[in-house]
Amino acid sequence: MGFATDAIHVGQEPDPATGAIVVPIYQTSTFVQEELGKNKGFEYARTSNPTRLALERNLARLEGGSFAYAFASGMAAINAVMSLFKAGDHIVAGHNLYGGSFRLFERVLKDFGLNFSYVNTTRLENIREAIGPATRLIFIETPTNPVMEITDLGAAAELGHDQGVLLAVDNTFMSPYFQRPLALGADIVVHSTTKYLNGHSDGVGGAVILNDPTLAERLKFIQNAAGAVLGPFDSWLVLRGVKTLAVRMVRHNENGLAVARHLSGHPKVKKVYYPGLLSHPQHELAIKQMTGFGGMLSFETGSLENAKTVLKSVRLCSLAESLGGVETLISHPATMTHASVPPEERARIGITDGLVRISVGIEDVEDLLADLDQALAKIP
Ligand code: PLP
Repeated sequence: MGFATDAIHVGQEPDPATGAIVVPIYQTSTFVQEELGKNKGFEYARTSNPTRLALERNLARLEGGSFAYAFASGMAAINAVMSLFKAGDHIVAGHNLYGGSFRLFERVLKDFGLNFSYVNTTRLENIREAIGPATRLIFIETPTNPVMEITDLGAAAELGHDQGVLLAVDNTFMSPYFQRPLALGADIVVHSTTKYLNGHSDGVGGAVILNDPTLAERLKFIQNAAGAVLGPFDSWLVLRGVKTLAVRMVRHNENGLAVARHLSGHPKVKKVYYPGLLSHPQHELAIKQMTGFGGMLSFETGSLENAKTVLKSVRLCSLAESLGGVETLISHPATMTHASVPPEERARIGITDGLVRISVGIEDVEDLLADLDQALAKIP
């Protein structure tokens, strides 16, 4: 079946008890057993819950994986992946990860003996050089936030596998609609379902998808043992969101491209970062490994003052963190999402004080362009 059909149907067969076409919210902590050792497949809701299971089956299919596990947040999902490793293990991570991942690695997991190296993974030789005898995992986001750098996933997977190292990809920005890392050779995919998968900015959640049965069994063990599971109502919200993922992503992409093109021709905009533009240095690679460019872009206004002017002048775009919802959000990476990244590191990555990020929503694009134009016109 096609992606949109799978998104609507997989894991979502009519409820066997009632025929309800929508998977019910099984808001229960436990399940009554008929006799000792005899149950209907569920015992206790941390271990397994029918609403969560429906979502996990659905997400596994959409990412082209055999197993999926849903967590209380994207960070809980990433923490569960890192719990696959032990003290002394080394992880090569992208130098421009989501700030929360960097914070988890540096300020929590390091204290448990995991070691991290951060490299610009767009250059494979950097990954190769960082891999040592203790390296177990390469952890990548592509495209990166907010400067949209792209790593060649197939090549990174091959490089890792040659040395017995796994590849994990945070696929939050693209969603499985535009990028399927497992098909390109990755071993593990993580998501903040808070973003495009849920799509409506009304829930926080995470997921891990993978193929290897041994790794999957260990991850399921960790999910139950550590217990950061996604609740039934939040699972239901993501299931509901995912049904429209295909149509939403098409529109995010159309609007993203239109906004990026418009801004690149705007006299007050110095630079636009969007992989769908011919001017993006990795446009060809984007076309090779992604089937669309998504709705995330950033642009350079030239100064903190100019960025502030735009951010306070927009009326339709909302000034907020997060991304991937139907409504357009605008933010200032240097003081919001990336405030915890040291200034010199921000400068190295290209996160200037004048950089503005947009999560382009699915509104009428003319309205978005008009809003951005009137805000940019306020720059002196
Ligand atoms: N990964 C990426 C790329 C993100 O942007 C985020 C959140 O912004 C996360 C992970 C963390 O997800 P959550 O906020 O659901 O814990």
